[in-house]
Amino acid sequence: MTIGILAVQGAFLEHAKMLSKLGVDSFEIRKKADIQRPMDGLILPGGESTSMYRILRDLDLVDDIKRLIASGLPVFGTCAGLLLLAKEVDNYKSDFLQTMDIKAVKNAYGRQLGSFRANGSFNGEDNIELVFIRAPYIASVKDGVEVLSVHDDKIVAARQDNQLVTAFHPELSDSTFIHSYFIDMCQEALS
Ligand code: GLN
Repeated sequence: MTIGILAVQGAFLEHAKMLSKLGVDSFEIRKKADIQRPMDGLILPGGESTSMYRILRDLDLVDDIKRLIASGLPVFGTCAGLLLLAKEVDNYKSDFLQTMDIKAVKNAYGRQLGSFRANGSFNGEDNIELVFIRAPYIASVKDGVEVLSVHDDKIVAARQDNQLVTAFHPELSDSTFIHSYFIDMCQEALS
């Protein structure tokens, strides 16, 4: 199993570390040739969504990524990655990838308050550390989207078929629980 990690901007190294803790190989996607390599899953990390999307456009990666997602490749977007996947961003005129039926709010907690740690649950499992950094949240989801985590009445993780998003940064916590959930998705897609 090999996971491609978008590595043009933001917190990509930490995802590779998490995957290696789970014994899963990964490689960085920095240019067109990288996205054409075989992969069993794709991670879109946190960072700054507007900058990241601009770079994706400059590198001509947008259509490749959309095609991979449409073909069923499991994708995991954290924080800015969530914003890239959201069909709608409430307070921002998004023209990002727009593949997932969620409405997100960018910098939803305010610039300062948006960075904090909390304890929450994910997919029914309690005591998951949630690390928020200038985080978005999900204001609403459409049919077919499963809500996986709610913190302070706000949706902070969700899944729609092969797409998983978290508003927080599981790669910055000690637990591999959420990465392991994603790897299970990748495994299911293979079988
Ligand atoms: N606030 C960032 C954005 O709007 C996301 C922050 C993050 O990825 N940690 O893209």
